[in-house]
Amino acid sequence: MINIVLFGKPGAGKGTQAEFLKGKYNLTHLSTGDIFRFNMKNDTALGQLAKSYIEQGDLVPDEVTIKMLEDEVAKNPDSKGFLFDGFPRTIAQAEALDVFLAGKDQSITATIALEADDEILVARLLERGKTSGRIDDQDEEKIRNRYQEYNEKTAPLMEYYTNQNKFYPVNGIGSIAEITERLSTVIESL
Ligand code: ADP
Repeated sequence: MINIVLFGKPGAGKGTQAEFLKGKYNLTHLSTGDIFRFNMKNDTALGQLAKSYIEQGDLVPDEVTIKMLEDEVAKNPDSKGFLFDGFPRTIAQAEALDVFLAGKDQSITATIALEADDEILVARLLERGKTSGRIDDQDEEKIRNRYQEYNEKTAPLMEYYTNQNKFYPVNGIGSIAEITERLSTVIESL
Protein backbone atom coordinates (compact mmCIF):
# COMPACT_ATOMS: atom_id res chain seq x y z
CA MET A 1 0.00 0.00 0.00
CA ILE A 2 1.36 3.43 -0.90
CA ASN A 3 0.19 6.72 0.53
CA ILE A 4 1.30 9.81 -1.34
CA VAL A 5 1.06 13.45 -0.38
CA LEU A 6 0.90 15.69 -3.44
CA PHE A 7 2.43 18.95 -2.31
CA GLY A 8 2.66 22.37 -3.89
CA LYS A 9 1.57 25.98 -3.82
CA PRO A 10 -1.92 27.03 -4.90
CA GLY A 11 -2.14 26.58 -8.66
CA ALA A 12 0.82 24.18 -8.90
CA GLY A 13 -1.33 21.58 -10.64
CA LYS A 14 -1.98 19.10 -7.85
CA GLY A 15 -5.60 18.47 -8.80
CA THR A 16 -4.79 18.07 -12.50
CA GLN A 17 -2.04 15.55 -11.83
CA ALA A 18 -4.07 13.70 -9.21
CA GLU A 19 -6.70 12.94 -11.85
CA PHE A 20 -4.09 11.02 -13.87
CA LEU A 21 -2.23 9.42 -10.99
CA LYS A 22 -5.24 8.03 -9.15
CA GLY A 23 -6.20 5.82 -12.10
CA LYS A 24 -2.67 4.88 -12.99
CA TYR A 25 -1.78 3.68 -9.47
CA ASN A 26 -5.23 2.76 -8.18
CA LEU A 27 -5.16 5.33 -5.39
CA THR A 28 -8.06 6.99 -3.60
CA HIS A 29 -7.79 10.72 -4.33
CA LEU A 30 -8.71 12.94 -1.37
CA SER A 31 -8.65 16.67 -2.12
CA THR A 32 -9.53 18.75 0.93
CA GLY A 33 -10.25 21.75 -1.34
CA ASP A 34 -12.72 19.66 -3.40
CA ILE A 35 -14.38 18.29 -0.26
CA PHE A 36 -14.79 21.79 1.16
CA ARG A 37 -16.22 23.07 -2.14
CA PHE A 38 -18.66 20.14 -2.30
CA ASN A 39 -19.84 21.00 1.21
CA MET A 40 -20.17 24.70 0.39
CA LYS A 41 -22.17 23.90 -2.74
CA ASN A 42 -24.53 21.71 -0.73
CA ASP A 43 -24.64 24.24 2.10
CA THR A 44 -23.80 21.71 4.81
CA ALA A 45 -22.78 22.77 8.32
CA LEU A 46 -19.16 22.03 7.40
CA GLY A 47 -19.49 24.09 4.22
CA GLN A 48 -20.93 27.04 6.13
CA LEU A 49 -18.10 26.87 8.62
CA ALA A 50 -15.36 26.68 5.98
CA LYS A 51 -16.79 29.29 3.60
CA SER A 52 -15.62 32.48 5.31
CA TYR A 53 -12.04 31.20 5.61
CA ILE A 54 -11.84 29.89 2.07
CA GLU A 55 -13.30 32.97 0.45
CA GLN A 56 -10.71 35.16 2.21
CA GLY A 57 -7.91 32.83 1.15
CA ASP A 58 -7.25 31.77 4.76
CA LEU A 59 -6.72 28.18 5.84
CA VAL A 60 -9.66 26.46 7.52
CA PRO A 61 -8.83 25.71 11.20
CA ASP A 62 -6.83 22.54 11.75
CA GLU A 63 -9.30 20.74 13.99
CA VAL A 64 -12.05 21.06 11.37
CA THR A 65 -9.83 19.96 8.50
CA ILE A 66 -8.20 17.07 10.35
CA LYS A 67 -11.56 15.65 11.46
CA MET A 68 -12.92 15.94 7.93
CA LEU A 69 -9.91 14.19 6.41
CA GLU A 70 -10.03 11.34 8.92
CA ASP A 71 -13.73 10.85 8.19
CA GLU A 72 -12.97 10.64 4.45
CA VAL A 73 -10.23 8.06 4.97
CA ALA A 74 -12.61 6.04 7.14
CA LYS A 75 -15.18 6.06 4.31
CA ASN A 76 -12.71 4.15 2.11
CA PRO A 77 -11.76 1.07 4.15
CA ASP A 78 -10.92 -1.00 1.06
CA SER A 79 -8.58 1.57 -0.45
CA LYS A 80 -5.31 0.35 -1.93
CA GLY A 81 -3.64 3.61 -0.93
CA PHE A 82 -4.37 7.32 -0.75
CA LEU A 83 -3.34 10.32 -2.77
CA PHE A 84 -3.63 13.29 -0.42
CA ASP A 85 -4.08 16.56 -2.32
CA GLY A 86 -4.11 19.81 -0.34
CA PHE A 87 -3.54 18.00 2.95
CA PRO A 88 -1.54 18.32 5.14
CA ARG A 89 -1.06 22.08 4.94
CA THR A 90 0.25 22.71 8.44
CA ILE A 91 2.66 20.93 10.77
CA ALA A 92 -0.25 20.12 13.11
CA GLN A 93 -2.08 18.44 10.20
CA ALA A 94 1.02 16.46 9.21
CA GLU A 95 1.54 15.26 12.76
CA ALA A 96 -2.12 14.30 13.08
CA LEU A 97 -1.93 12.40 9.79
CA ASP A 98 1.16 10.47 10.92
CA VAL A 99 -0.53 9.49 14.19
CA PHE A 100 -3.77 8.58 12.40
CA LEU A 101 -2.03 6.39 9.81
CA ALA A 102 0.18 4.76 12.45
CA GLY A 103 -3.01 3.74 14.24
CA LYS A 104 -3.89 1.77 11.10
CA ASP A 105 -0.35 0.35 10.75
CA GLN A 106 0.28 2.62 7.83
CA SER A 107 2.38 5.63 6.99
CA ILE A 108 3.08 8.24 4.33
CA THR A 109 5.28 6.69 1.66
CA ALA A 110 6.34 9.93 -0.04
CA THR A 111 5.55 13.61 -0.33
CA ILE A 112 5.97 14.75 -3.92
CA ALA A 113 6.16 18.50 -4.50
CA LEU A 114 5.26 20.26 -7.73
CA GLU A 115 7.53 23.28 -7.94
CA ALA A 116 6.88 26.50 -9.85
CA ASP A 117 7.48 30.24 -9.50
CA ASP A 118 4.88 32.36 -7.70
CA GLU A 119 4.40 34.74 -10.63
CA ILE A 120 3.54 31.91 -13.03
CA LEU A 121 1.15 30.44 -10.48
CA VAL A 122 -0.66 33.68 -9.68
CA ALA A 123 -1.24 34.22 -13.41
CA ARG A 124 -2.58 30.65 -13.72
CA LEU A 125 -5.01 31.15 -10.83
CA LEU A 126 -6.34 34.44 -12.20
CA GLU A 127 -6.89 32.67 -15.53
CA ARG A 128 -8.64 29.76 -13.79
CA GLY A 129 -10.78 32.26 -11.86
CA LYS A 130 -12.36 33.43 -15.10
CA THR A 131 -14.08 30.08 -15.56
CA SER A 132 -13.87 28.13 -12.27
CA GLY A 133 -16.41 30.25 -10.40
CA ARG A 134 -14.04 30.09 -7.42
CA ILE A 135 -14.21 33.36 -5.47
CA ASP A 136 -10.75 32.70 -4.05
CA ASP A 137 -9.29 32.67 -7.59
CA GLN A 138 -10.82 35.93 -8.76
CA ASP A 139 -9.07 38.55 -6.68
CA GLU A 140 -5.34 39.06 -6.68
CA GLU A 141 -5.34 40.15 -3.04
CA LYS A 142 -6.99 36.88 -1.94
CA ILE A 143 -4.56 34.92 -4.07
CA ARG A 144 -1.63 36.75 -2.46
CA ASN A 145 -3.11 35.93 0.93
CA ARG A 146 -3.15 32.22 0.02
CA TYR A 147 0.57 32.49 -0.83
CA GLN A 148 1.21 34.16 2.50
CA GLU A 149 -0.65 31.35 4.27
CA TYR A 150 1.41 28.86 2.26
CA ASN A 151 4.72 30.51 3.12
CA GLU A 152 3.93 30.80 6.82
CA LYS A 153 2.10 27.56 7.51
CA THR A 154 2.65 25.08 4.69
CA ALA A 155 6.25 25.65 3.55
CA PRO A 156 7.64 24.28 6.87
CA LEU A 157 6.30 20.87 5.80
CA MET A 158 9.15 20.61 3.30
CA GLU A 159 11.56 20.31 6.18
CA TYR A 160 9.19 18.05 8.11
CA TYR A 161 9.12 15.49 5.29
CA THR A 162 12.78 15.99 4.37
CA ASN A 163 13.66 15.03 7.95
CA GLN A 164 11.67 11.82 7.42
CA ASN A 165 13.49 11.23 4.08
CA LYS A 166 10.18 11.41 2.27
CA PHE A 167 10.40 14.65 0.31
CA TYR A 168 10.66 14.50 -3.51
CA PRO A 169 10.64 17.80 -5.43
CA VAL A 170 9.58 17.70 -9.08
CA ASN A 171 9.71 20.47 -11.69
CA GLY A 172 6.11 21.59 -12.13
CA ILE A 173 6.69 23.56 -15.33
CA GLY A 174 6.02 21.75 -18.59
CA SER A 175 3.15 19.99 -20.33
CA ILE A 176 0.64 18.06 -18.22
CA ALA A 177 1.89 14.79 -19.72
CA GLU A 178 5.54 15.62 -19.03
CA ILE A 179 4.77 16.36 -15.42
CA THR A 180 2.72 13.17 -15.01
CA GLU A 181 5.78 11.35 -16.35
CA ARG A 182 8.07 13.02 -13.80
CA LEU A 183 5.71 12.15 -10.96
CA SER A 184 5.38 8.57 -12.20
CA THR A 185 9.15 8.16 -12.20
CA VAL A 186 9.21 9.11 -8.52
CA ILE A 187 6.29 6.85 -7.61
CA GLU A 188 7.80 3.87 -9.43
CA SER A 189 11.10 4.37 -7.60
CA LEU A 190 9.46 4.09 -4.18
P1 ADP B 1 -5.42 25.74 -3.96
O1 ADP B 1 -5.69 25.93 -5.42
O2 ADP B 1 -5.29 27.04 -3.22
O3 ADP B 1 -4.31 24.78 -3.68
P2 ADP B 1 -7.47 24.02 -2.73
O4 ADP B 1 -8.58 23.69 -3.64
O5 ADP B 1 -6.53 22.92 -2.35
O6 ADP B 1 -6.74 25.23 -3.39
O7 ADP B 1 -8.03 24.68 -1.38
C1 ADP B 1 -8.87 25.81 -1.41
C2 ADP B 1 -9.03 26.39 -0.01
O8 ADP B 1 -9.59 25.39 0.88
C3 ADP B 1 -7.72 26.80 0.68
O9 ADP B 1 -7.31 28.11 0.31
C4 ADP B 1 -8.15 26.71 2.15
O10 ADP B 1 -8.93 27.81 2.55
C5 ADP B 1 -9.04 25.49 2.18
N1 ADP B 1 -8.26 24.28 2.49
C6 ADP B 1 -8.01 23.24 1.64
N2 ADP B 1 -7.25 22.32 2.23
C7 ADP B 1 -6.98 22.77 3.49
C8 ADP B 1 -6.23 22.30 4.58
N3 ADP B 1 -5.56 21.13 4.52
N4 ADP B 1 -6.19 23.03 5.72
C9 ADP B 1 -6.85 24.19 5.81
N5 ADP B 1 -7.56 24.72 4.81
C10 ADP B 1 -7.64 24.03 3.65
